[in-house]
Amino acid sequence: MKSVEQHVADVLALIADPQPTELDLLRAHGSVLAETVTSPVSLPGFDNSAMDGYAVCAADLEPATADSPVRLPVVGDIPAGDPSPAAVRPGLCARIMTGAPMPSGADAVVPVEWTDGGVATVAVDRPVRVGNAVRPAGGDVVEGAVVLRPGGRIGAGEMGVLAAVGRRSVSVYPRPRVVVLSTGEELVEPGRPLGPGQIWESNSFMIAAAARDAGCEVHRHGFVGDDPRTVLDTLEGLLVRADIVITTGGVSMGAYDVVKEVLTREGTVEFTQVAMQPGKPQGFGAIGPDRTPIVTLPGNPVSAFVSFQIFVLPALRRLRGLDPRGLPTARAVLTAPVTSPKGRRSYLRGVLEESPHGREAAPTVSPALRQDSHQLSALAGANALIVVPEETTELAAGGTVDVVRLPDPA
Ligand code: AMP
Ligand code: MG
Repeated sequence: MKSVEQHVADVLALIADPQPTELDLLRAHGSVLAETVTSPVSLPGFDNSAMDGYAVCAADLEPATADSPVRLPVVGDIPAGDPSPAAVRPGLCARIMTGAPMPSGADAVVPVEWTDGGVATVAVDRPVRVGNAVRPAGGDVVEGAVVLRPGGRIGAGEMGVLAAVGRRSVSVYPRPRVVVLSTGEELVEPGRPLGPGQIWESNSFMIAAAARDAGCEVHRHGFVGDDPRTVLDTLEGLLVRADIVITTGGVSMGAYDVVKEVLTREGTVEFTQVAMQPGKPQGFGAIGPDRTPIVTLPGNPVSAFVSFQIFVLPALRRLRGLDPRGLPTARAVLTAPVTSPKGRRSYLRGVLEESPHGREAAPTVSPALRQDSHQLSALAGANALIVVPEETTELAAGGTVDVVRLPDPA
């Protein structure tokens, strides 16, 4: 059987480096930046007031006290956006709003709270230091400076920076387009009545959600039955929408394992057995005229889920323009014993608690009660996969294990 590491590497090798695209700013949200962004101007672009108040010559206010305020004539108002603010000379001041350009001649702003708020003249009850409440030009970003480097995800803060330096569009690795297709004659769309022997289809919803959480744009095609022609035609029709296709079901040793049957004939998809549990039967390759990557996950829901986390996520990271590492791991103390088949690495669902009895205690992980690959109830609420190495068949409570942290949705 193939090792987990080898299969991770093989799936990753399918993925070519993504091509950058120029996207409108709002559409670039959640994409990975593909360029170095510099600022064409200084920020702020001009000296401006940090407060609502009065632009003054600081020297005028040296004698001001609460008992004997200094009274200054107000030459006018300077609102934010004023293109030609009235100048100030010693002995005069101007009423100024937050963000408004400093008038020439003034060297400080007195907050309105230090004054009587006068309109024609204003009384100021204390001295002010030079530069008070003035935001100097370039105090945030100097013209030409790098504000963002390539390789980071564009979140809310990065959006703000891009807009503030005047960008309307930006070069990014766009969100990969993921197509999800399940197979199985027994499947019924949730919301519709079940007949005998039928089950509600869950994999495509689960994998679509996981791929969306991983920053992808997802097309959930849903599912098709086990007819080879239909499976192949459906896949071919979906390729135009896909940077990667993920299927579930039909890849094991059964007589009706249709994905394996039709894609084996294509010759470009390889089906193997990986030394893990759940998730032994796996397939990967490239199909269609553009050699679109395809990963064929097993049909048991827990197998599909775990296989996605271990094999597909790194590939999606590479498609996004990110470093294709796997999920973060941690060490934790088992709260209950676990077992695992010899020769296969188990990934058991569990709940990781970082500091179970206050800050000092080591993290613990509690294995879910139902660990079979069809028992998907424990997927809800699980935040970690407990890793039991290939040669280990049992671990006692109190033992320390590696756990894979399941991703937090972005
Ligand atoms: P398969 O890999 O197609 O042999 O399916 C293995 C098991 O997973 C069977 O019990 C299927 O009924 C179940 N299964 C396959 N696909 C799905 C799906 N999309 N949703 C829920 N269960 C599924
Ligand atoms: Mg099936």
